[in-house]
Amino acid sequence: MPAPVDTFGRIHDSLRISVTDRCNIRCFYCMPEEPTNFQPRAEILSFEEIERFVRVAAGMGINKIRLTGGEPLLRRDLPVLIEKINGIAGVRDIALTTNGVRLAELAQPLYDAGLRRLNVHLDTLDRERFKHITRRDDLPKVLAGIDRAQALGFGPMKINAVAVKNLVESDIVPMARFGRERGIEIRYIEFMPLDSQSLWDRSKVLLMDDMLAMLRAEFGDLEAIPDQDPRAPATEFRYKDGGGTVGFIASVSKPFCLNCNRIRLTADGKLRYCLFAIEEMDVKELLRSGAPDEAIEARIRENVRAKWLGHQINTQQFVPPPRPMYAIGG
Ligand code: SAM
Ligand code: SF4
Repeated sequence: MPAPVDTFGRIHDSLRISVTDRCNIRCFYCMPEEPTNFQPRAEILSFEEIERFVRVAAGMGINKIRLTGGEPLLRRDLPVLIEKINGIAGVRDIALTTNGVRLAELAQPLYDAGLRRLNVHLDTLDRERFKHITRRDDLPKVLAGIDRAQALGFGPMKINAVAVKNLVESDIVPMARFGRERGIEIRYIEFMPLDSQSLWDRSKVLLMDDMLAMLRAEFGDLEAIPDQDPRAPATEFRYKDGGGTVGFIASVSKPFCLNCNRIRLTADGKLRYCLFAIEEMDVKELLRSGAPDEAIEARIRENVRAKWLGHQINTQQFVPPPRPMYAIGG
């Protein structure tokens, strides 16, 4: 079956599933220090509900799945879910985005469950700055997790580094060096207005062009990778000296909405056509009330049809979404 197409002709074959809204660290651009509004457990979709949803979506041609959160490695028995999703006909790709804190202990069961694609979130190699950003002293655990995953032979790993101005400038080059040495693509993500404390404004975003200039000054020229998948969110470059690749998710300075192929399912079973969407559509009730697969399929198509052309971060009209990043699933 052809994957759902929105009213602007964009094909939607990618689904991000948040498996929890909880987290073991507290990045200031995502969570407050003491969040009080986690979903009660009964509101969180069970593995059976997620599996059924993926089965319906995969039958519609939505064949790329990414698990995220909150911190997905806090969800008990996550490898069991990965194995189930991997076994669903039509699923071509499954990936995980994690903060890496529990990766050293879980890398083996994740690998055994068939996971190969990992994005680890790490903004800095400086322990004090890591503590400042995440309000936790867990840098050694994240580094151990990356080591373990590389030793096990996970496929090309990526690191997500959030770029906040006047904070991580001195991390840009060391992170790039870390990626070059280890064959990991660093993806710098421009700080987006998804924080729970409304800290964001445009002046706090470290922009892609500024980061590129820092990398060029240190490592020599970089060239845009030709024939990139236009639907991938990152703009990727290659170091001309053979040092591998680097990517930018430039949601603020170069929005990529025109090529978006993604929908999202929140941990509490709401469907969202955009990170920044204001409206969302419920699927939990359908899953829990014995609705047939056709009703779930119809809800997915309805959500994709309702999709807007793009977010309005760069305009006066921008309204931040009612949920912060950890409650949506980045
Ligand atoms: N806990 C996991 C993690 O941190 O990777 C998965 C969920 S987290 C919400 C997904 C990604 O969102 C993170 O990798 C981080 O890079 C990104 N992120 C969180 N808050 C952000 C913000 N305000 N702006 C840009 N990226 C953000
Ligand atoms: Fe947790 Fe990820 Fe949000 Fe950081 S970005 S607080 S690791 S959910």
